[in-house]
Amino acid sequence: MSGKFYITTPIYYVNARPHIGHAYTTIACDAIARRHRMLGDDTWFLTGTDEHGQKIERAAQAAGKSPQQFADEVSDLFRSSWDRFGLSYDDYIRTTSDRHKRGVQALWRKIRDNGYIYKGTYTGQYCVSCELYVDGAEPGAECPTCGRVTETVKEDNYFFKLSAFQEKLVELYTGQPDFIRPETRRNEVLSFVNGGLRDLSISRSTFSWGIPVPDDPRHVIYVWLDALANYVTALGYGSNDTTKYEKYWPPDVQMIGKEIVRFHCVYWPAFLMAADLPLPKCIVAHGWLLFEESKMSKSRGNVVRADTIVDVLGVDALRYFLLREVVFGQDGSFSFDALVQRYNADLANGLGNLASRTLTMITRYFKGEVPYPSHAAHKPEDDAIAETARKAIADFGSYFDQFQFSKALESAWGLVSAVDKYIVENEPWALGDKQDEESRQRLATVLHTSAEALRIATALAHPVMPDSTAKIWEQLGLGDIKQFDFKQLAWGQLHLGTKLGEVKAVFPRADKSAIERMQKMEEQNNSTAPAPMTPATAVTPPAAAPSAPTMAAPAKPVATVPDGKISIDDFTKIELRVAQVKVAERVKGADKLLRLEVDLGTEVRQILAGIAEAYAPETLVGRKIVIVANLAPRKMRGLESNGMLLAASLEGGKPVLASFLEDVPIGARLK
Ligand SMILES: [Zn+2]
Repeated sequence: MSGKFYITTPIYYVNARPHIGHAYTTIACDAIARRHRMLGDDTWFLTGTDEHGQKIERAAQAAGKSPQQFADEVSDLFRSSWDRFGLSYDDYIRTTSDRHKRGVQALWRKIRDNGYIYKGTYTGQYCVSCELYVDGAEPGAECPTCGRVTETVKEDNYFFKLSAFQEKLVELYTGQPDFIRPETRRNEVLSFVNGGLRDLSISRSTFSWGIPVPDDPRHVIYVWLDALANYVTALGYGSNDTTKYEKYWPPDVQMIGKEIVRFHCVYWPAFLMAADLPLPKCIVAHGWLLFEESKMSKSRGNVVRADTIVDVLGVDALRYFLLREVVFGQDGSFSFDALVQRYNADLANGLGNLASRTLTMITRYFKGEVPYPSHAAHKPEDDAIAETARKAIADFGSYFDQFQFSKALESAWGLVSAVDKYIVENEPWALGDKQDEESRQRLATVLHTSAEALRIATALAHPVMPDSTAKIWEQLGLGDIKQFDFKQLAWGQLHLGTKLGEVKAVFPRADKSAIERMQKMEEQNNSTAPAPMTPATAVTPPAAAPSAPTMAAPAKPVATVPDGKISIDDFTKIELRVAQVKVAERVKGADKLLRLEVDLGTEVRQILAGIAEAYAPETLVGRKIVIVANLAPRKMRGLESNGMLLAASLEGGKPVLASFLEDVPIGARLK
């Protein structure tokens, strides 16, 4: 049974440019939305920007812009980031849009007509930064949320009868324990509400950047009532067309950061109750993303942009890292070192290596067709892999649906490492060298089992890494992953004889230079970034994302180097590594060309080399050579060459392979 599924991110306040924290929330929602689409649910994924309030009015003024112009610019930055990252939102709501204003005013009228809005005088402290009235505080008191000094305000305001909802809210939290997740947040909210609720001032008359109160335009609506309403106005609430509202309301998941729990878990359900609207099913608060253990903040200058990571490692690497490394609900730490380490361990050497070695061997030994497993050659360890896969499917689903992304991915990667071990123990390359029927049958079984496990791990990882899993899926010969019905995912569906697609590395290994590049990009960005509270016009929106993760160094400012010389930076771009030849053979129809398979320690690659006249293939097997490991793949005679070996020759003379006098480990880098 498929149902509807409505998920929302908080709408982002346009006083700051998008950073990795915003990306984290939005990526988590994107992964959840993708999983629900995969399962056949009619899914609606909403994000957008929050653009009203005194803070924006003041920031725009400081920047010499109109508030609308200011909001337009920053809202565009968010949207273009999400587009660049390929995030699959269905709607992008802006609180300055007419459809939102109309909806908010309709909501106000409904709450007012139900008797929950009255006029009164407010005297008290207000935090402009948090747009928060601080109850019971003395003049000069600090804001309990951000620590800034509050301002004293006295004005005729409209009030919302929040106090009327205290009991109903407590009933909600206790009767529906999953309404707020995780439990720690639920307990905080419960004790806050049990401490007593005072009526809430919901209009302001001292500034004008907001939505006018219906029938009293001297007031604008409190920015939090305005902002929270986006979740319902985006579906057409208050308009003539309520099709979407009827289809998707209420939200199934509302994702927020822990700092806005009170607004979403106290005020929001109270507003909805007051307007007779059904409540969201669950509000999920995640923790903060810290940078090397400390909170990212503009004043510390340690705000990391997601774009930098996407430029260097690709968007899937960022998505995987955030969901794998951070325990959802808790604070998580981000560092470039941890990112690259995780990328290499789990993606380059994990899923990526499993894909390339399995598919390469099927190509080599079975002409690129998934072989038939043989009953005669069956062994208990094959069943063990099947069992691990079944467990991974079940565990992944239940963890993921409980927002435990890290554990879900851990269970999928448990399968990846089990197959890795299985391949090492069964040595398919050794079986491939033998010609007897028994070895041949065992080889077919081992490769079939590995490919089936690869298929399942790839399917599970799809909502988290949509692009790279789509590529592996195609390489497996399975076509468009979007067409696959994930409710059917089970062991044993890989059709025998499936013709593989073209095999290509999906996660090229990243080295230390990747970290340096990201750090430099952030340093440069921070030194040119506009001061806080000014709009980000100095930042050019990034160009379209490359479709594949690329390790190519981004263009750097050209240093002055004497004619004909290159800088050390240019040299370090070339990744020279020691590799050992595993297979060498002539290429049909090409006198000079040899096809080699070389082991880099972390992976086996195919390289084509024009050395057939100088070296007999059999003399090369076992020999250690030097290759350019980060050369973009090239096609020669219809075969892909993934790297280049180094050989020296004089014009017209025979090439001589570069080699070492002393023994040298496979994979060592030349520098
Ligand atoms: Zn504050």
